[in-house]
Amino acid sequence: MKTNYSCPHCNSPLLLENKLIFTARHALSDSISEGFLLLMNPEIGHYEIVVHPDVEVIEGEKYEFYCPVCHHKLHSDLNENLAMIQYYDENDKLFELHFSKISGQKSTYKIMGRSVETFGIDAPHYLDFISLIDLS
Ligand SMILES: [Zn+2]
Repeated sequence: MKTNYSCPHCNSPLLLENKLIFTARHALSDSISEGFLLLMNPEIGHYEIVVHPDVEVIEGEKYEFYCPVCHHKLHSDLNENLAMIQYYDENDKLFELHFSKISGQKSTYKIMGRSVETFGIDAPHYLDFISLIDLS
């Protein structure tokens, strides 16, 4: 069983050709026409993104992530600056993967029940908001 990533709302797989695919939009924009496609390195703790050359992603600014299939916002209940998708590890165990919506901020949380593994140099930034047991 390979790892998999999916939308928590419609369960559609979000991994294609070894990239996570989302639609995204600047958090202050309410115009659908300002949305764009965003590819992300699926490896936990890696943050490389690919966008169309005409799209400018500004470091330090917040973007909303949406499922490209059902268009639900991929929000995290833990913090308004985090997005959340489902992650199945190689043993088919289900985790919640929470990651920062702020461009350039490296923080990811792999959560099952009340345990959390943290990734990225900015991970401590949100730990205060997450009253879980850090197992990393
Ligand atoms: Zn969906």
